[in-house]
Amino acid sequence: MSTAAYISRRVVFPDEVRPAAVLVDKKSGLITRIAEPDSFGPVAELYDLGDHALLPGLIDPHVHINEPGRTHWEGFETATRAAAAGGITTIVDMPLNCLPPTTTVAGLDAKRAAAAGKCMVDWRPWGGAENGNLGDLAPLAAAGVPGFKCFLVYPGCEGLGLLNQTRLRAAMSTLAELGLPLLVHAELPGPIAAAGKSLAGKDFRKYENYLASRPDEAELAAIRLLLQLCRKFRTPIHIVHLATALGLPLIRAAKAEGLPITVETCPHYLYFAAEDIPDGATQYKCAPPIRSHDNRELLRAAVLDGTLDLIASDHSPCPPDMKGLETGDFAKAWGGIASLSLGASILATTLNSPGAPSQSASSIEVGSDESLRHLARLMSANPAKLAGLAHRKGRIAEGFDADLTVFAPEESFTVTPNDLHFRHLISPYLGERLIGRVKQTVLRGTRIFHDGAFPSPPIGHEVRA
Ligand SMILES: [Zn+2]
Repeated sequence: MSTAAYISRRVVFPDEVRPAAVLVDKKSGLITRIAEPDSFGPVAELYDLGDHALLPGLIDPHVHINEPGRTHWEGFETATRAAAAGGITTIVDMPLNCLPPTTTVAGLDAKRAAAAGKCMVDWRPWGGAENGNLGDLAPLAAAGVPGFKCFLVYPGCEGLGLLNQTRLRAAMSTLAELGLPLLVHAELPGPIAAAGKSLAGKDFRKYENYLASRPDEAELAAIRLLLQLCRKFRTPIHIVHLATALGLPLIRAAKAEGLPITVETCPHYLYFAAEDIPDGATQYKCAPPIRSHDNRELLRAAVLDGTLDLIASDHSPCPPDMKGLETGDFAKAWGGIASLSLGASILATTLNSPGAPSQSASSIEVGSDESLRHLARLMSANPAKLAGLAHRKGRIAEGFDADLTVFAPEESFTVTPNDLHFRHLISPYLGERLIGRVKQTVLRGTRIFHDGAFPSPPIGHEVRA
């Protein structure tokens, strides 16, 4: 008998939070039955989680693993370890920053070879779309990528190239036929170039100058273009890391119109605000940038009302010298924030924070059933849909993969380097007090994280739909 039972007073289903026993077959790695907590017959292993919540395993669809080629930035071993510590059971890898980028089947094969045997959690590869590889999109789709990422502005380092507007149209037409989503870094270069001219000679140790160099208008112009093309081609569009709240009315209107568009934002846009970022503190640099306090409050409201579909980390680390913490020059530092192991705690903290509009609108309390259901929707169910995994992951249900996250909603902690688990222990969250903590992570029936330790060898593999 290889059945284990996980009992909790707070099992998080899509529509409700209730006491249940989740029965797991360790051999097949599947959930075999959802039972009442006191009547499920004999089992080989029993885990009574008490008041700790049991969530579906979290899914992060936006992670830069950087292996092969830039494994000294981050790699499969360290990224998937951090994911496991964060309650994440599946990550989807971005096609850039690694070398070769995942823009050809050969690049995908190199990625698969690099990942073999190293992964603590399951993973999938996004493909990359650039001007020169439109002929590779269909072969990559046939080889198993669930969608494609593209940039309309320079991505920041050698590897994946741009899509110009002509090629963007061609890519959207191809992906409409393939029925796969196009994930877009939604900033256009025009407004960034214009802002750059007016900022020439300014002190880029000051955060306000970096913020001004990536204006809201760069995001807005890209969103307008994407909505227009989405209307024409009907390609599923996913806007990654939305930072400007000025884009929310456009997105609401597009959704009301029925366009196939989804949008993510990241923990750092919900947690930090530009006014609080010290000059020279380049650990906060990302693109698009963290914007104002008022902007943050509007994003928080949009997360709760469903305008924003999901939360992804955009975990994008680099070696310490590239972050330029000694010089504090925002113009030169690598743009990317590392937070892979902390997402659930950050989101839970922001949903419950005193300044959140939710407090007046829907009064979400620390550890309430409502906040747990938001977590499951934003960090598991909706990411599973985007990554083409909704038939087997993203929900606690019979026949689904036994991916589970045990979460203590009321437990608070101050973030130390020991909580990070990724390759370089740099993060703007160090020293922050977060409420809500991942206690255990279960991947296909095997415990891979338990109170700070990793009790299993790396059993993660690529999930092919
Ligand atoms: Zn990214």
